[in-house]
Amino acid sequence: MIARSPDAQGKNAHREPWQMALQDVVSDSDELLALLGLAPAALAIDGDPAFPLRVPRAFVARMRRHDPDDPLLKQVLPLTAERALRPGFSHDPLAELAANKLPGLLHKYHGRALLIVTGHCGIHCRYCFRRHFPYAARQPSRQQWSQVFDHIRRDDSISEVILSGGDPLAVPDRQLQWLIDQIEAIPQVSRLRIHSRLPVVIPQRITAALVAMLADTRLQASMVIHANHAQELDEDVAAALQPLRRAGIVLLNQTVLLAGVNDQAETLSALSERLFAIGVLPYYLHLLDQVAGAAHFEVSEPLVHGLRAALLERLPGYLVPRFVRELPHARSKVPVFSGASP
Ligand code: SF4
Repeated sequence: MIARSPDAQGKNAHREPWQMALQDVVSDSDELLALLGLAPAALAIDGDPAFPLRVPRAFVARMRRHDPDDPLLKQVLPLTAERALRPGFSHDPLAELAANKLPGLLHKYHGRALLIVTGHCGIHCRYCFRRHFPYAARQPSRQQWSQVFDHIRRDDSISEVILSGGDPLAVPDRQLQWLIDQIEAIPQVSRLRIHSRLPVVIPQRITAALVAMLADTRLQASMVIHANHAQELDEDVAAALQPLRRAGIVLLNQTVLLAGVNDQAETLSALSERLFAIGVLPYYLHLLDQVAGAAHFEVSEPLVHGLRAALLERLPGYLVPRFVRELPHARSKVPVFSGASP
């Protein structure tokens, strides 16, 4: 267990535990390495200062000490390798700025609208495809939120609204409730999906109040969590997810395939097994989006093919995630392979 700093304890006395954890993160690489018993010289650290190190202490506590190759550490360390330019890797790999016609709204796919609720995250994942997204400049005012909901109301085809970010669960409950109220008031919307990494990195975020909020809405609620390695899913995460399951919230997981983190069949297989054991179905395995700063995480095509073949051999079909990539201007995620799973 990693102790919270005394400063943070004083400042956050009136906040909920999850809000304190969200604020009291490790943001200094020397501190992170010291907590893990690693010497700074062991790793070349000099990432993009515009996307600084940020990692919750609960997540640090799941890292192996004295191991510079720890798969959780690799997801958060701003390595010098981020500065290497690679053709094809850009600041907006999915052309989201073109699809972001109204602040707060991404409407790329038929039937679904995605809301960028906040730019704030509990953790900074170095491979994040939105790591360069201009959240501050695209944050909607109340009036602009009204325009977003008007847009959804006018499009009869939209039956599902996805809360994304940043991390949508990083906002306070009252803001979340306000958003859900607005969505509920749109008659043709029947489903609410929340994409969040907070249930994994700060499991205290799954409070009784949050579960009640999702259970009480007329919308069919699902939550897509984001874990890349079984080591992320400790007993605190498992316990936090149980009330959501009991409340009938569908739980899915998405993973990003990352070199040096989870590009082994045993690792992906263990992740699927662990997810199922805690009540979550593996949903998507995303190939890396080609975002500037993340090229060192890319996995080669032949290896991707081999991984899927190995997973199909090892696991029942329902535990093999869909291998997909996102392409700019595509009307859906693109399957990496076609053909049915057994
Ligand atoms: S939590 Fe999600 S949005 Fe935030 S940095 Fe990680 S991948 Fe990106």
